[in-house]
Amino acid sequence: MSGFDYDLFVIGGGSGGVRAGRVAAETGAKVALAEEFRMGGTCVIRGCVPKKLMVFASKFGPAVEDARRFGWEMEDGRFDWDRFRPMLDKELSRLEGIYRTNLGRPGTDIYDARAVVKDAHTVALSTGEEFTAKHILVATGGRPFVPDIPGAELGITSNEIFNLARLPKKVLIVGGGYIACEFACILNGLGVEVTQWHRGPQVLRGFDDEVRGHISELMVAQGIDLRVGVSPRAVEKTSEGLRVTGTEEHEVTVDEVLWATGRVPNSAGLGLEALGVELSANGAVVVDDYSQTAVPSIFAVGDVTDRINLTPVAIREGAAFVETVFKGNPVKPDHELVASAVFTQPEYGTVGMTEEQAHREVGNVDVYTASFRPMQKSFIDRQEKALFKLIVARESQKVLGCHIVADGAGEMIQLAAVAIKMGATKSDFDAAVAVHPTMAEEIVLMKSPTRRLEPIG
Ligand code: NDP
Repeated sequence: MSGFDYDLFVIGGGSGGVRAGRVAAETGAKVALAEEFRMGGTCVIRGCVPKKLMVFASKFGPAVEDARRFGWEMEDGRFDWDRFRPMLDKELSRLEGIYRTNLGRPGTDIYDARAVVKDAHTVALSTGEEFTAKHILVATGGRPFVPDIPGAELGITSNEIFNLARLPKKVLIVGGGYIACEFACILNGLGVEVTQWHRGPQVLRGFDDEVRGHISELMVAQGIDLRVGVSPRAVEKTSEGLRVTGTEEHEVTVDEVLWATGRVPNSAGLGLEALGVELSANGAVVVDDYSQTAVPSIFAVGDVTDRINLTPVAIREGAAFVETVFKGNPVKPDHELVASAVFTQPEYGTVGMTEEQAHREVGNVDVYTASFRPMQKSFIDRQEKALFKLIVARESQKVLGCHIVADGAGEMIQLAAVAIKMGATKSDFDAAVAVHPTMAEEIVLMKSPTRRLEPIG
């Protein structure tokens, strides 16, 4: 080794940091990782994993009525948070243990402490220890952003939602992004009365406009009191609960307010700026294509860099960093055509361009859509419609984007992403024979365009 205590010191035990630490150790590097909270990071401890388990739990409520309509004799149930929560805690502890074991191979040290960067090669821990490292990887993730209004501290964020002592009867969710829409559906499914305020004209800004409209209609139809164009002004505690006043004379009294108003990079107080590491206006660590900061020995991956804030992307960034730095094989993490899913109910799976983006950037675009009541829903006279959408470049016939709103869309989009990543054309999709009877077969059955767009201007 090179006179340093470690070859790599990772700050942050989330998806990106753990992957980088593990694969670096596999090359024979001496690795340390410091985590101030719990191993696993946002995804495992207070994000994707507990959220998805709550999605599963929340689907049984509406399913009881569906089952009745299918001919079952069913009593209405009641969700028991007190039974679910310890199970959730147990599962998260199990996963945390796996993360710790996976990383804790010979040659790797884990420090349960907060770390700050002291100089280009030194990390100082809250325990008072200091270590030198040839490379430092900042993988500290993000944290919830809460608007600065009177009484904001009376609300909670997605950090606290999984640890609530009791499930609220009424909740106000502020925001219109991933977290806001997912929790509106989850809590509604669990029997909570949900009001959602979003400041913009439509939820899920940045996603396909037609899909945004479709999802918000489905959310309203399932009983979520979704209000757009409303911003909160103040929260106060009254004898009835938390009274929230908003713009346009909106007012609601609830048991909990959930701030789902975005996340910001977790870079404050790490000592980075003083060393010459550049931070953007929102605190993101600025890195080059190889995740290297302005200080050559310091790299950063994951949400703290605010590129694409998704677990699998952070993992790829961590792995690419190790390829580049420890295997002498420079690899840029690939941020093109990253598929994702918003776990509303039903889900939204998406990969590639939205209709608006394709129209702006490509011009001549054919849009194929299919909106229909799936067999399972129409049989029991549920109005809920699925939406399938392909965006195709007219000249090359390449599929530029795919959008699916349906039960299981998260599963479907993963497979569509393989084809689109390979450069599939519309006729490649058409050539695949349908799997019948499924919803996914629609993706190969859309014969003629619903809209033929011409270049703007
Ligand atoms: P998003 O950026 O998706 O949404 C933030 C929402 O808060 C937007 O609707 C925004 O409005 C609103 N907002 C921001 N500031 C204010 C304010 N001051 N007052 C009122 N409203 C405000 O963030 P999330 O926190 O939902 O999610 C963070 C990231 O985490 C996502 O972008 C995604 O990358 C990741 N994530 C992924 C998930 C998945 O893959 N399923 C699930 C959850 C999170 P406006 O649109 O007007 O800006």
